[in-house]
Amino acid sequence: LTERLNRAMKTITGQGKLTESNMDEMLREVRMSLLEADVNYQVVKDFVANVKEKALGQKVLDALNPGQMVVKIVKEELQQLLGNEDAQIHFNDNGITNIMMAGLQGTGKTTAAAKIARYLKNKKNKKALLVACDVIRPAAIEQLQTLGESIQVPVFTLGAETSALDTAKAADQYAKENGFDTVIYDTAGRLHIDEELMNELSMMKDFLHPQEILLTVDAMTGQDIVTVAREFNEQLQITALIVTKLDGDARGGGLLSVRSITNVPVLFVSNGEKVDDLEEFHPDRMAERILGMGDILSLIEKAQENMDVELAASSMERMQSGQFDMNDLLSQFEQMNRLGSFKGILKMIPGMNKMAGMVDDDQMNAQIKRMRAIINSMTPKERARPDILKASRKNRIAKGAGVKVADVNKLLTSFDQMKMMSQMMSGGMPAMNPFGGGF
Ligand code: GDP
Ligand code: MG
Repeated sequence: LTERLNRAMKTITGQGKLTESNMDEMLREVRMSLLEADVNYQVVKDFVANVKEKALGQKVLDALNPGQMVVKIVKEELQQLLGNEDAQIHFNDNGITNIMMAGLQGTGKTTAAAKIARYLKNKKNKKALLVACDVIRPAAIEQLQTLGESIQVPVFTLGAETSALDTAKAADQYAKENGFDTVIYDTAGRLHIDEELMNELSMMKDFLHPQEILLTVDAMTGQDIVTVAREFNEQLQITALIVTKLDGDARGGGLLSVRSITNVPVLFVSNGEKVDDLEEFHPDRMAERILGMGDILSLIEKAQENMDVELAASSMERMQSGQFDMNDLLSQFEQMNRLGSFKGILKMIPGMNKMAGMVDDDQMNAQIKRMRAIINSMTPKERARPDILKASRKNRIAKGAGVKVADVNKLLTSFDQMKMMSQMMSGGMPAMNPFGGGF
């Protein structure tokens, strides 16, 4: 399967022991994985350098299980970057807690405002008020009102004719008079940062002295988010982040960059359009996601646990010297079997998530089972020299394996292609991909 997996495998199947050079190879995988997840280049560079330094400092190479130690360090460092402790909303002990939303248009401010209001009401026992300060888009007020109704939190508005600042002033007064203890201000966004918006938000901030200014960060946005976050932070000094749309398939690496630029914690994760699709932030889960769902690292771990390293290495050698036969193919099928489902393996490889969705595990397993049955029906001589297989032998094998002669031919074609490929390529484990042709 893919070059990527082959390389990761090679890293650990190589000398059986981690050296500085194959640790570099492993870290290169980590680096690629982070870049694919849209983590900023500089952030990745620093991160990898940092991990390497830690690994060398901890004498990882002398450890009993160096591969797993590198894995552990990578995870720990990533979690560290994402913010280890669980952040909480800062409440005002002597008065109303003001929370202001900020972010570009469409990033999920309005939705998040309502979700947070619901959370405060249900989980923190707060008397919450929502305020509609997005007066740019008339539909935004209505949207907030609808959301407010669904969670039974009142929404304060003076309509679209009043400015955001005047709305905020009136809302503040209203909250005081009516015993609200937590007020969430939904604000307008723009497609791009502009001065008018920033001025409006700054004036609101100066008036409200909010305990929290929450920047919504859309996980689907790529690298642009870095610039946006920097601007918002410089002008408003945001206090925390809300990561939105994590229900999509984006890996969310942009968050790592935003974290490192703003240096504020992530408070919540929004993962759906419904008002209860809000979660507290878990750095460990996010770390795994950014590394590539299930991640290349756990694949390395798994491979290390389950692969018969010696056997894999010897069959690789045989391949490269052109001696690869059906026995080797059979042992490779068995190795693959031990790694678990194909879908599972694909999901662990960065960038292969989509493909995993297209794989039918049952079908794959059935194919492999069929191929194993065919090889098992061959005599030792036939396995060693599949080129002697002519019509009568093929017929006998097909019968024995309970398949059609065409299936036997397919396997032979794949085998020939693999053998040819293996002679052309040096290094890697091309035999891991028997599905190149025919099957
Ligand atoms: P705003 O312009 O920043 O206020 O963004 P909205 O709150 O209006 O959200 C923009 C769109 O994104 C709406 O269609 C929301 O339903 C949707 N949305 C917001 N948060 C999420 C989320 O976490 N997941 C998904 N799938 N959609 C979301
Ligand atoms: Mg909005």
